[in-house]
Amino acid sequence: MSNASNQPEDMKNKPKSYWQQKLEPNTFFVTRCSGTEAPFTGKYWDNHLPGIYKCSNCGQPLFDAKDKFDSGTGWPSFTRFEGDSVESRTDNSHGMQREEVVCKHCGAHLGHVFEDGPEPTGLRYCINSASLDFHEDKVRK
Ligand SMILES: [Zn+2]
Repeated sequence: MSNASNQPEDMKNKPKSYWQQKLEPNTFFVTRCSGTEAPFTGKYWDNHLPGIYKCSNCGQPLFDAKDKFDSGTGWPSFTRFEGDSVESRTDNSHGMQREEVVCKHCGAHLGHVFEDGPEPTGLRYCINSASLDFHEDKVRK
């Protein structure tokens, strides 16, 4: 993480082999092969601590814990992302049309976004724990 480049293009154009060496096998599977972890198995679906969820691949802040809600799905779910950190693209795999969400900085697969979330956005960002790296905020409550 310490040698991360400041240039977004660099991170996005790394070959898969770079990430395979850098990441844990499960993290690599989810973020670089668009895998999905089994529900209720990830580190963060039931995490209610205040803090910031960063990209597990590049460290970019992605979601704030205050935007996390209990969706009952077994995956960490958020109503919105932080700043300009996430982008979506249409995913036609598995015979469905879904909106895939990826880290804007490094292109890591995060999960999908659905339009059945709570107020104020009406969106539900359904994210794999393996795509996230939680940093607890011990000051703010
Ligand atoms: Zn990233």
